Amino acid sequence: MEKQKYDALVIGAGNGGLIAALRLAKSGKKVLLAERHILPGGFATGFKRGRFYFEASLHELCDLGHEDKHGNLYTLFNELGVYDKLHFVDVPEAFKVINSKTKETYEMPFGIDNFINKMEEYVPGSRKSVTTFFELGAEIQKATRYLNESHGKPDSKVLREKFPNFMRVAVYSVDKVLKAIKMPKKAQEIINTYWSYLGTPTDELGFIHYCIMVYLYVSLKAQVPVERSHEISSIIAKEIEDNGGEIYFGDGVKQILVDKDGVIGAILDSGKEIETKHIISNASPDMVYESLIKDKSLIPEEQLKLSSFRKLSGRGLSIFLGLNKSKEELGLNSYSYFIYDSLNSREAYNHMLDLNNHSQVTVVLNNALPDCSPKGTTILYMTSLYFSEVFDKAINESNYFDLKDEIANKFIDNFEKSTGVKIKDSIEEIEVATPLTYAHYTSTPDGSIYGYYTANLDNMMARLNTMYDEVILKGLRFAGGHAMRSSGYNSSYLSGDLVAKLTLADMKEDR
Ligand SMILES: Cc1cc2nc3c(=O)[nH]c(=O)nc-3n(C[C@H](O)[C@H](O)[C@H](O)COP(=O)(O)OP(=O)(O)OC[C@H]3O[C@@H](n4cnc5c(N)ncnc54)[C@H](O)[C@@H]3O)c2cc1C
Repeated sequence: MEKQKYDALVIGAGNGGLIAALRLAKSGKKVLLAERHILPGGFATGFKRGRFYFEASLHELCDLGHEDKHGNLYTLFNELGVYDKLHFVDVPEAFKVINSKTKETYEMPFGIDNFINKMEEYVPGSRKSVTTFFELGAEIQKATRYLNESHGKPDSKVLREKFPNFMRVAVYSVDKVLKAIKMPKKAQEIINTYWSYLGTPTDELGFIHYCIMVYLYVSLKAQVPVERSHEISSIIAKEIEDNGGEIYFGDGVKQILVDKDGVIGAILDSGKEIETKHIISNASPDMVYESLIKDKSLIPEEQLKLSSFRKLSGRGLSIFLGLNKSKEELGLNSYSYFIYDSLNSREAYNHMLDLNNHSQVTVVLNNALPDCSPKGTTILYMTSLYFSEVFDKAINESNYFDLKDEIANKFIDNFEKSTGVKIKDSIEEIEVATPLTYAHYTSTPDGSIYGYYTANLDNMMARLNTMYDEVILKGLRFAGGHAMRSSGYNSSYLSGDLVAKLTLADMKEDR
């Protein structure tokens, strides 16, 4: 079979792969995007059951905002010519958090002043420290912009003079900094609600990573696309093709070809052979190093060590419900319900090591998109994480479906008990996605949904700062949830762009 020649091959059309391919295509490069599944998006997709069109993953987008006040994702989508083709609405409030044991409940709004005022109502005396938290968020945002612009070579004098507080908190965990700024314990528990979005309890989660996420959500509000995340994925895929890029769906990469000078090509599942010196992989390093590159001696030792040292983030579990009553009839008034056994993130995390886990982040989509389901119905989905292999160990071929039913029942019961809202009798459609489902559709290792666990010194900031000095296999870079910005929609899109730009720079050295 004749070899096809490309400037670059992108493996996988998840968020990171799509943006990387689009940036390369827009830069005039001949790019092939090979996706094993028959649809673009990876996790960023939707599916139909009966009369309901479900979102497969997205609860809320971070770092987008609006034209007048926007984040990095808005700038990226705009620059790549897709923002105007997409339709977003704001999520109505930040979150409702419920302790399922004590039933204590807190509802927090978007908007920094609103958030601070509400916290002061719940926790008198918290105003000063919560204000400091958001001031730190603003400084971290500016500092990270400076770091991005300095391409791994920041001037330490500028960092010290312009971003002294950023430097002061850079190496500490969320808990350490909140304690240092004297935030009352209860306010810490409330502000830490989003911890499960990053999948790391706050005693080892990097403050900078967490603070910037909360700051972006609260200051820019969160958004969701009107036609589920598949809208974003399919518009980006079309834009790639409109700019001369090629996409193969249903044809993955089974081997990356490497010689002593680096990448030389790839072989697809169909047997087609691709010649290229540049590959961006949206598939995880675990998959690439374990099965796509046959001769391990050609992989830099540092990379092998890193991927075996890093542990996977939480394994995903989601329950999607189509309810045959309206949210008003049911009394579902909030968009996101964070329901934990404990508002202490370490304790909640420990419960999530177990099969009895029923902590959940539940979204009532109609509270952002009233017409997302037929009149008189509601779409609700709950997501949880297992921070161990407990699910894999519990299943076998004969108990899989029973186990799914048992687990779904437990999560639904917990939702009903925690919120006082009865939903079970109104279920018209139900679908349960387990770690196996995620592994099956996206090839993510063990069904983990947030890339590699980020903790202590192996945090997002450290990964971003050290990436320029990493010894890589020449011609091979990674985009998406397993890459340097770690997981999340905004992070995976932004990492796709960053890696495409690095690849464009690599290409200049080819000549
Ligand atoms: C239930 C759930 C809820 C979530 N909620 C949010 C949220 O509210 N906000 C948020 O920001 N993030 C959320 N996330 C996380 C977010 O979805 C992910 O971080 C992000 O989508 C990961 O994108 P990625 O670029 O890593 O690609 P992935 O989605 O991991 O896609 C990788 C792609 O590569 C393809 N592939 C793999 N191997 C090969 C191969 N050998 N050849 C060809 N193709 C291959 C796969 O088929 C897949 O399409 C959620 C995730 C889940 C599961």
